[in-house]
Amino acid sequence: ALSEFLRRTPKSKEFSAAAKHVMPGGVTANIKAFDPYPVIMDKGAGAQLYDIDGNQYVDYLLSYGALMLGHGHPAITNAIQSQMEANGTVLFGTPHRLEVEMGRKIMQHYPSMEKVRYTNSGTEATLLAIRMAHAYSGKHKIAKFEGHYHGGYDQVLLSVNPSLDNAGPATEPASVIESKGVDPYHQQHTVVLPFNDLDATAEILRKKKDDIAAVILEPIQSGFIPADQSFMKGLREVTEELGILLIFDEVKTGFRVGLGGAQAVYGTTPDLTTLGKVIGGGFPVGIVGGKQDVLMTSAPTSNSDVFDSSHSKSSQAKDVLFHSGTYNGHPTILAAGLATINVLEQEMDHVVTMTNKLKKGLSELFGKHGISMQTIGLGSIFNVVITDKETIGNHRDFQQANFSMRKELDFLLLNEGIYTKPLNRYSLSTVHGEKEIQDTLAAYEQALSKLT
Ligand code: PMP
Repeated sequence: ALSEFLRRTPKSKEFSAAAKHVMPGGVTANIKAFDPYPVIMDKGAGAQLYDIDGNQYVDYLLSYGALMLGHGHPAITNAIQSQMEANGTVLFGTPHRLEVEMGRKIMQHYPSMEKVRYTNSGTEATLLAIRMAHAYSGKHKIAKFEGHYHGGYDQVLLSVNPSLDNAGPATEPASVIESKGVDPYHQQHTVVLPFNDLDATAEILRKKKDDIAAVILEPIQSGFIPADQSFMKGLREVTEELGILLIFDEVKTGFRVGLGGAQAVYGTTPDLTTLGKVIGGGFPVGIVGGKQDVLMTSAPTSNSDVFDSSHSKSSQAKDVLFHSGTYNGHPTILAAGLATINVLEQEMDHVVTMTNKLKKGLSELFGKHGISMQTIGLGSIFNVVITDKETIGNHRDFQQANFSMRKELDFLLLNEGIYTKPLNRYSLSTVHGEKEIQDTLAAYEQALSKLT
C-alpha cells in the first residue's frame, strides 16, 4: 500500500516537505499530520475532493463534519454573493437583521434555546457557555466526561484521549492533561466523569455539587458513541436535583444526527447548548443558546456595563458577563448558514437514508470477510469500529478496538479514492448519492481483499 501511495502522490510529498519550512510539522493542526506525509487537497466539488496530483476521493471527512451540503453547493455560493452584493459590505460591526433571522431559525429547531449568542467557533461557544454557567451559579468548577472534546483551551483540554495506563480507575477517572503548556491548575478545577456510568457519575457529582457549576458533555461522544437513553435521563435528573447546569455540546451532532440534534433524539432539555460546524455552511461560527435566565447573565443592563477595553477604568468585576468578538454574528457567514439549514430542512432524510445504506453495505462486506465490525452512530455520522466487544459505550471500550487493522484499511482506502481521517468517523452530506455509496463499497471490497 505504501508504494502505491508514493506512486500516486509525488506532488503532495514535495509540497509537504516545503510546508515544513513554513509551519511547525508542516501543518496548522496536529490532527492534520499523516505518515509518511499528508495528501494536499486542491479542490472540492460536490461529494468529491481532488488532491494536487489530480487523484479523486469521495470525501467522508467533510472538514470534520462541517460541510453538510458537500463542496461548492450553489445555495451557499448564491447566498454569500447576494448578501455581499445587496449590502455592499461583508461586516457591519453593529447589530443586523440576519442575527435575528438565524437566531429564530435555530430556536425553532432547538426549543431548549430561549435566547442565543454568536461566537466564531465551537471552541469559543463552549468557552462562553462555561463562563455563563459560572456567572449564573457563582460556582467555579466544571465537570466533563472522559473522552469528550470541547475545544482547545486549558479548562477542557483534560482527559480527551488519555492512554489507559494513566487514566485512573474506571469509576473515578483522573483529570489527565492533554497538551504541553496546559496549566495544571485546571486538573483541580475540571472534574472528570465516566461516560455512560450513571451511578459513578452521580456519586462524584453529589460529593462535589457545591463547587460544580455545570456538567458539559457530547451527548454522543466524538459524534458517534451514543449516551444510553437511561444514562441521559438519569444525568438530567441528578444535575437538576443538585443545582448543576447541564450543557450539551452539539458542535458535532447539531443538524447532523437530525435537524434537532441529539437533544431531539433523546427528548432531553439541556440548560445550555453549543452549536458550530454545520451551521456555518463551511465558515467559522458558533452559537450558545439555552435557558433565558442563564443567557441573560450576558445582557447589558445599563451603559456602565458596556465594557470598552480601550477605556477600562476599573478592575472590579462587573455584574454582567463579558462577551465580545469582532466577527461575532458575521453577516456573510450567517447567510451561508441560513442557506445550509434551508436546504437541510428539505434533504436531511435523504442524507440519513444514504448513511444507513452505506452502513448496511459495510456490515455485509465485513461479514463476508469474517471481520467483526460495528458501524456505530446516528443520523448522518458513524464510525467503522473493528471489535469483538458487544457494546462500545465510552472511551475505554473504544480504545480496545482493533486500531491497527482499521489504520491499514484507511491507508488502502486512500489508494482506492476514499478520504477519511485515519480512525475518524464518517460524515455524509446532501450530495452523497447512490453512486458515491456504490463506489465506496467497491473500494472497500478491494481494500478488504488486500488486508494482510
Ligand atoms: N466541541 C465539539 C463537540 C467538537 O467536535 C469541536 C470540534 N471538533 C469543538 C467543540 C470545537 O469546535 P471548533 O473546532 O469550531 O473550535
